[in-house]
Amino acid sequence: MAQFKEQVNLVDLSVVVPVYNEEENLPILIPKLVEILNPLNLAYEMIFVDDGSSDGSRSILKEMALKYPLLRVIGLRKNRGLSTALIAGLKEAQGKKIVTLDADLQNDPEDIPKLLAYLDRYDMATGWRQKRDDPWLKRISSKIANSIRNRFSGEQIHDSACTLRAFKRECIQDLIPFNGMHRFFSTLAKMQGFRIIEVPVAHHPRKFGQSKYNIRNRAWRAFIDLLGVRWLKNRRIIYDIEERI
Ligand code: UDP
Ligand code: MG
Repeated sequence: MAQFKEQVNLVDLSVVVPVYNEEENLPILIPKLVEILNPLNLAYEMIFVDDGSSDGSRSILKEMALKYPLLRVIGLRKNRGLSTALIAGLKEAQGKKIVTLDADLQNDPEDIPKLLAYLDRYDMATGWRQKRDDPWLKRISSKIANSIRNRFSGEQIHDSACTLRAFKRECIQDLIPFNGMHRFFSTLAKMQGFRIIEVPVAHHPRKFGQSKYNIRNRAWRAFIDLLGVRWLKNRRIIYDIEERI
């Protein structure tokens, strides 16, 4: 798939944020992001993808784009899910480096500089919500999901579905996009030989709005995706050129 933007007019950093019904969180998150990003002295852009919200998220984003010139808003016609919103944002991104994070203030923008610092030595720094601040059922189901994912895909990733990550643009150049891929982003990048580190990040309880994912609506689909990723991983093309004559 010819997909992500060619290497033209690249900025240093794109911050991509998927949004579905987060109207109360956006007016807090955007100024906070700006406060963290401005001192980094990077040419950056923020791309907020409104994934077909039914609340006031779209109009709040439009209003905020007038105030914050580095904010770009991509509005999807219909709600398509987190993976699709992320992909839609990544396709627009012009950054040499990219950061993704949730819009619900559960990820903390304060962690962004820390993650970016790892890109000197790694291609991707992915968040590990060590002290996850979610309801107990979600915490436990997530732990189980991570361990099943690791067992089936031969990985040792503590937190495969944390949206908060920083990575070099190369990591997504040949990414295979599919609905559900947000849970396998690290594995897909590792399969291509990229160096990845998991970095402990803060996690906050959701104060406003509702979680869109729960054990009922994700377990079965995520398992089917896991089988697909396992197949893909087993079938990946691996070779070393010994000689070229
Ligand atoms: N999200 C989205 N489209 C959806 C569902 C969620 O863009 O169909 C966004 C949501 O607004 C948030 C992120 O994806 O920024 C993670 O969603 P959520 O917080 O509901 O998931 P949880 O943290 O509970 O697993
Ligand atoms: Mg959340």
